[in-house]
Amino acid sequence: MADEPQRRGQVPPGGEVAPQPPVTPVATTSTEVGAPHQFRSRMPRPTGLGELLAPAAGFGVTLANFFSKTVTEEYPTEKVPTKPRFHGRHQLNRYADGLEKCIGCELCAWACPADAIYVEADDNTADEQYSPGERYGRVYQINYLRCILCGLCIEACPTRALTMTNDFELAGPTRAGLIWEKQDLLAPLRDGMLSTPHPMVEGTTDTDYYRGAVTGTTPAQQEWVAEHRPDDPSLPANVARGVAPAPRGATAQAQADITAGATKQGRRVL
Ligand code: SF4
Ligand code: SF4
Repeated sequence: MADEPQRRGQVPPGGEVAPQPPVTPVATTSTEVGAPHQFRSRMPRPTGLGELLAPAAGFGVTLANFFSKTVTEEYPTEKVPTKPRFHGRHQLNRYADGLEKCIGCELCAWACPADAIYVEADDNTADEQYSPGERYGRVYQINYLRCILCGLCIEACPTRALTMTNDFELAGPTRAGLIWEKQDLLAPLRDGMLSTPHPMVEGTTDTDYYRGAVTGTTPAQQEWVAEHRPDDPSLPANVARGVAPAPRGATAQAQADITAGATKQGRRVL
């Protein structure tokens, strides 16, 4: 390898740097790729009085804003409502009797460009009916470290199970704390809904649910839940007795605590 030409800046084994020939600059023209670009403004240059007042004109924008209405938002002390169509945190919706709309089809996960959704489906059975029809989403996760809140997943959902709320307060103390599980994402039970699992309304099919024909729970559904889960807080008898509602998911609760803490800190007079 003795006759291999030495590269520029390389030290030979003897430790002595061989003298290098001087670098001759290569002539370039302005149209050549990689040639240094000379910036020339096409704005007409002010002359005379205009040139004299040009710096003051720049400060004129600043001065004009001194007298305009301030737009500082005192977040988190004062929360300004978002626009109604703002894409915030997701929600897994329910039908009027409390059954879940998600059927575990995974279309949302396939539509997601950020690979932020993970779904595992399972079969509904007579004793474990979570959604109308054959299948339900047993595992449902959204990773908010990946999600870009683009909304493609909600467009893909065939049952309108997945929608987006206006909630933008998404923070967590750990990476794992930003993965929202199904229990965190499920819509809270509204008045009259029963928590899942429970049977479908008698004599209906999943199509009736999709068409909005189910408008609430029936006595037979309430009896079924009372027989299988007498302590269920969503039972009308337990609601009347003032039983506390079922706790929300751990991540949703942690988020609520973080938000409440930040809001309290924002209110503190320093
Ligand atoms: S909003 Fe966009 S990035 Fe977020 S989960 Fe849905 S498809 Fe994925
Ligand atoms: S949220 Fe909608 S698209 Fe996603 S698995 Fe459930 S039903 Fe399918």
